[in-house]
Amino acid sequence: MRIDLVTIFPRACEAALGEGIVRRAIDRGLADVRVHDLRDHTADRHRTVDDVSYGGGPGMVLKAEPLFKAVEAITAEGPVDAVVLTSPQGRRFTQAEAARLAALGHIVLLCGRYEGVDERVRTALATEALSIGDYVLSGGELPALVIVDAVVRLLPGAVGDEQSVEADSFSRGLLDYPHFTRPAEFRGLRVPDVLLSGNHGEIRRWRKREALARTLALRPDLLPHAELDDEAREMLRAMRDERGAEHGRH
Ligand code: SAM
Repeated sequence: MRIDLVTIFPRACEAALGEGIVRRAIDRGLADVRVHDLRDHTADRHRTVDDVSYGGGPGMVLKAEPLFKAVEAITAEGPVDAVVLTSPQGRRFTQAEAARLAALGHIVLLCGRYEGVDERVRTALATEALSIGDYVLSGGELPALVIVDAVVRLLPGAVGDEQSVEADSFSRGLLDYPHFTRPAEFRGLRVPDVLLSGNHGEIRRWRKREALARTLALRPDLLPHAELDDEAREMLRAMRDERGAEHGRH
């Protein structure tokens, strides 16, 4: 998969891409991630990428032309499946959105700055806008890097053990089960006995129940959309009955 980032801070992006799973995926040729300096697509001596906002008011706006030229230079090299504008006004970026993008061959991520980007970028250049949450960051670099990380780790072979991606929170619509590592007891805190039992059937059921219990307690909004088999539905029903009985007792 190819991913292009367009930014005024290419070095910051390259530094973040130079570590961990994303770096490994790039080294293995699973992901071809290219960072473009928006200023390389300006024509003036000062390499100007921003200007004042029509209508007045504080703050600068990223100009349309450098962004259009940057994307045109990328599309000239081959077809692009999505041009994503990072924006707090975009559709919420979720695990499902990450999976959708990971299935594409080539995406471009545009990093805004200042007051944002000229609206014509959203209406006539970007094919979609994505937000990483309901808060405002100073620039699109962190959102773009969040998107790259979430997408790249879904590419087959990027994460060592495929199962670890499958069990991750949200991938089946549930939160992940709790993880423990050695020692079995730390400052009086013991790892649940079942995980030390060697009984793989029991361990599998315990993890499933824990994932369901956590989701029910912390993110019940996820449950209506989760992929649940008969066993999970039965576990959930038992948990809800138990909760109901507890409420009844109080
Ligand atoms: N004035 C804009 C607004 O209120 O919608 C905010 C501009 S923000 C300071 C500058 C840039 O940061 C945006 O153009 C976008 O690229 C990026 N950005 C900020 N918060 C974001 C978020 N939650 N998700 C995605 N991108 C974000």
